Amino acid sequence: MIIIMLGAPGTGKGTIAGILTKELGIPQVSTGDIFRKHIKEQTELGKLAEKYISNGKLVPDDVTIGLVENRLKEPDVQNGIILDGFPRTVKQAEELDKMLEKDGKQVDLVVNLTTPEDEIIERIVNRRICPNCKAVYNLILNPPKQEGICDKCGEKLVQRKDDNKETVKQRFNSYIEQTSPLVDYYNKKGNLYSAVVSKSINKLGKDVAEDVLKYIKEGK
Ligand code: AMP
Repeated sequence: MIIIMLGAPGTGKGTIAGILTKELGIPQVSTGDIFRKHIKEQTELGKLAEKYISNGKLVPDDVTIGLVENRLKEPDVQNGIILDGFPRTVKQAEELDKMLEKDGKQVDLVVNLTTPEDEIIERIVNRRICPNCKAVYNLILNPPKQEGICDKCGEKLVQRKDDNKETVKQRFNSYIEQTSPLVDYYNKKGNLYSAVVSKSINKLGKDVAEDVLKYIKEGK
């Protein structure tokens, strides 16, 4: 099964993908995580990606598409994948369709998340991540049991460099301008599942993940 997580920054794509991955037994692949690994190791790709990521801009399509194309060839994703943060442009979506088509595959489900803009800022500035196992926490909505420490693996939690108020505005603009047309793109294909993630309606990532699993298990 091929699942795409779509949504503005801070809507809970990674959190929900993490739950789906465990329940469905298919790997979660986050292009953001791959870029962060390259930045940490200061590879050529990392140096290039950093310039865009630190300004809240999207990494150019040719670079990102090439990266995913190679990742899709690896054995662990042959029976399914949860793409977390890819595609983010119509060009990326079109190229993904072509890559999958070659193997007789297709995107099965697109989980489209929305969150009110004021909540997005709050969710992002309070987000902490585990650099080891990639677990995601929120200091207010979903704090770790022990302050600053990952519940799952005991690693020290960190804040992403681009998780600040200034960068988040640009990231949100990039989403509106370049990524949001994908809602229409996938809606026309008939594989879109939309959900609101918001504390105001008592629906956090884990609640939406449950809804998505139910939707998958009960069939469309
Ligand atoms: P994320 O961890 O998904 O929030 O991604 C962090 C940053 O990596 C984004 O703000 C972009 O700068 C970059 N990035 C991740 N995925 C993509 C993509 N599919 N296309 C372009 N840039 C991306």
